Amino acid sequence: MITLSGITKSFGRIQVLKGIDLQVNKGEVVAILGPSGSGKTTLLRCVNYLEKPSEGTITIGEFSVDCKRAAKKEIHQLRQKTAMVFQQYNLFRHKTALENVMEGLIIVKRMPKEEARQRSIELLEKVGLGGKLDAYPSQLSGGQQQRVGIARALALNPEVILFDEPTSALDPELVGEVLAVIRKIAKEGITMIIVTHEMAFAQEVASHVVFMDGGVIVEEGKPAELFYQPKEERTKQFLGRIR
Ligand code: ADP
Repeated sequence: MITLSGITKSFGRIQVLKGIDLQVNKGEVVAILGPSGSGKTTLLRCVNYLEKPSEGTITIGEFSVDCKRAAKKEIHQLRQKTAMVFQQYNLFRHKTALENVMEGLIIVKRMPKEEARQRSIELLEKVGLGGKLDAYPSQLSGGQQQRVGIARALALNPEVILFDEPTSALDPELVGEVLAVIRKIAKEGITMIIVTHEMAFAQEVASHVVFMDGGVIVEEGKPAELFYQPKEERTKQFLGRIR
């Protein structure tokens, strides 16, 4: 359902993605692991064109974009199929939790305001924030802010949700509540790609695990294979280090 083929990305003369091929089936939860600087975040950002890939093709469903000659309209269409959950939440500081979720529905989806409000309330309830509708980000904990971020992504009803290290900015005691929400929506069959350092979580929730190093996919497979029977030396070293 999502196919990345031959994705490369250079910043100046430094090539940080060196030809990534990846296939993600509908309803699958893919975890991307790897050492810092291996290109995980850049790859995720390439999927929705927050970074413009240098080369390659991105296909979501029937829709395909050749990155070398993508027109603005195609990029816009591609973006509409994805939603991103950011490390630093990226909420509007001057909007309430409810307004943050409504924003995308009104602006992107052009939903009437009252309908957007109802839908947003449902989603905030789903992430356990029914009691915080009118709170501003500054009045919420990091975990709560990230749950607003997740509700906002869900509101767009995307074909895939991209999570960029969604718990790495959180104090340890707040990580659990965010992972619980991600776990819950994973069970609903929403396609997700998650860059994460949470190994236990990846092992539990992911249906497919990808290990990246040096801008390439070194190895990928089912969690049980990759975690317990890694084939590549680099994967073994990485897993050995973090255990
Ligand atoms: P990871 O997510 O695996 O830690 P990143 O995708 O963040 O890795 O980064 C991969 C490499 O690309 C790093 O060497 C990083 O310094 C570099 N990089 C990322 N973004 C930029 C940028 N906007 N400009 C220049 N270099 C960048």
